[in-house]
Amino acid sequence: MSRQALNLLDDIINPMPSVFDAVKNNQSFIAGVADLTPGIIAVYNIQTGQYVYINNSLKPILGYSPKEWVEKGVKFALSKIHPDDLPRIIEENKHALEQAQNQENLIVEFEYRVMDTSNNYKWLKTYGTVFDKDRLGKVLHVINISLDITSIKETEERILQLAGSIEKKTEEIIEQKQIEKQKDEFISIASHELKTPLTTIKSFTEILKMQFGKEQKALHYLEKMDKEIDRLTGLVNELLDVSKIQSGGLTLNRERVDLIEFINEVVEDIQPTSTQHKIIFKKKSSLGKILMDKHRIYQVLINLISNAIKYSPKSNKVIISVDKTPYEAIFSVKDFGIGITKRDKKKIFDAFFQANTTIRQSYSGLGLGLHISKEIISRHGGKISVYSKKGIGSLFKFSIPTKKAYA
Ligand code: ADP
Repeated sequence: MSRQALNLLDDIINPMPSVFDAVKNNQSFIAGVADLTPGIIAVYNIQTGQYVYINNSLKPILGYSPKEWVEKGVKFALSKIHPDDLPRIIEENKHALEQAQNQENLIVEFEYRVMDTSNNYKWLKTYGTVFDKDRLGKVLHVINISLDITSIKETEERILQLAGSIEKKTEEIIEQKQIEKQKDEFISIASHELKTPLTTIKSFTEILKMQFGKEQKALHYLEKMDKEIDRLTGLVNELLDVSKIQSGGLTLNRERVDLIEFINEVVEDIQPTSTQHKIIFKKKSSLGKILMDKHRIYQVLINLISNAIKYSPKSNKVIISVDKTPYEAIFSVKDFGIGITKRDKKKIFDAFFQANTTIRQSYSGLGLGLHISKEIISRHGGKISVYSKKGIGSLFKFSIPTKKAYA
């Protein structure tokens, strides 16, 4: 390209070269731009330790006027650096100057805290470079631009704190999960280990009862023992069921069951356990048969009726009912006992939940019956619910779908 063409191109790119040059060389323009910069611009002579120039941004950031800072010098500036940052900054500066001696256009970065006029520390991020060197090639002036990064640092700090607490929470959750796992394993092992000796003791009691059947006193104690073994067996069975629920091993063996005959059987079996309560079953004409796991639904009803008796110490009746629609069979157990608060209603189907501690002391149980019952009903595709008022009584209802799709 010819020289003429080059000049023409230069004219097109810089249409007013003379104005541009004037601006470029204008001192007040440069100072104006420097003052508009949101960072502190400082030029200092490293050989004398004196500031040569500081822009007006010093004032809003550190509170000092540039004139005051220039007069006080680099030593004063160093005295304002946080004592925890000072040794590092001196070291990094020394290293940067050594590097700058041999390397052109080197830009170094430092982060540190400086105390402002209100005695608060501000975080500064400083970019520094060599401004000029003396005739011997030694660095003479250095130019620094320092940005106020206090809010960034504070945010960083908050994020770190948050990350810390998230990490702590995660650890807690992992620990909780491990404890849960250990608890599940313990329940599974303990219930399996207890089951076998209990069965052996039970059969020995039977043998002893046969042997000492004629001795009244011995029979009396053996019968007591038998009852306690049954109670213990019941608790161990509950633990075994929970363990099955946890491992997904609670399976159903469905058969066709006549509803009325079934309820009669349940009432017949449970009535002897309470002399105080009459178990009332409002009989209906035949409701026919439905497909269900007879033993598991028996277990649910026995649990609901036992609870109805257990939690109504001042009442004398429990009412059972069963009904059938084209879609489902509906069972209910109603008592006139202590009732359940609104808050507890949400939790009674949770494993190991027991509502009233004083009642709990007088009546044994593990707080597993309703949890197991709920699982049995939901395996049948049904629902269990409770309606209760504190001091009035409770009504437990559950449904079992009869349609083929569910059964
Ligand atoms: P458990 O009876 O062994 O404690 P359940 O799972 O059967 O365990 O019942 C859980 C809790 O629900 C009981 O501890 C009791 O506080 C409450 N509850 C259950 N049935 C009744 C009821 N019919 N009336 C009042 N409270 C009940």
